[in-house]
Amino acid sequence: MAASDSTGVRVIPSFHVHPGHAFEGFELVERPDTVPVLVARCECGAVLDTADACFARCPMCFGRESMCPRCGGTGHVVDHAALEWRARSL
Ligand SMILES: [Zn+2]
Ligand SMILES: [Zn+2]
Repeated sequence: MAASDSTGVRVIPSFHVHPGHAFEGFELVERPDTVPVLVARCECGAVLDTADACFARCPMCFGRESMCPRCGGTGHVVDHAALEWRARSL
């Protein structure tokens, strides 16, 4: 289940997208023992870069709106400014 965040992202970092391919989007991957990891995908499905997920309080509802379109009621959103992207080591 992909939790891609295409809303509210104004500045897309320059990921290592394959030449001629489009940037597909982000995917939040839950991990059982540690923080989730955010994955940037190429349109062909390849993982481009990864970052440990950082969350910020939802700027639209501040966690008070269960039907919030921005955070989906979770009260937090991915804090893109705090992410440290790193190239995936193959
Ligand atoms: Zn590709
Ligand atoms: Zn919200």
